[in-house]
Amino acid sequence: MKLLLTFSRKSEKDPGRQPVIARLVKETGVLINVEKANINSTAGEVLIDVPDADADLIRRRMEEMGITVRLLEDAIVRDETECIDCGVCIGVCPQKVFYFDEDWKIHLREGLCVLCGKCIRACPHQALSQQQ
Ligand code: SF4
Ligand code: SF4
Repeated sequence: MKLLLTFSRKSEKDPGRQPVIARLVKETGVLINVEKANINSTAGEVLIDVPDADADLIRRRMEEMGITVRLLEDAIVRDETECIDCGVCIGVCPQKVFYFDEDWKIHLREGLCVLCGKCIRACPHQALSQQQ
């Protein structure tokens, strides 16, 4: 299950300045896979993947540490009224999120997206957006 973490790094006490992921792996034994990280001097956003059975525990412990946690099940939203089932998104997605069904209609697989944004930029009909 994918969790999107956002945190402050402004002061030394902020969670973004602490080794929170390493600490949680050590404390819980849960293997946390970091899939993407955007971190600057004042804030950070990190996408992690954890086993489904451990997601509640990791989410609770992260929140206790002052991190904002969002569950990313449907990370990308497709506007069915705009989509023309052209398949461009299938070609650009590195995670194989998109696929055609037997009627050549586009569908999305949940839980695979790493929020790279390539499909959003590539869609010729602006049918894709990131879940808010
Ligand atoms: S690229 Fe856009 S219009 Fe084309 S199939 Fe994907 S979502 Fe639909
Ligand atoms: S944001 Fe990236 S990983 Fe997610 S569905 Fe679009 S292309 Fe695939």
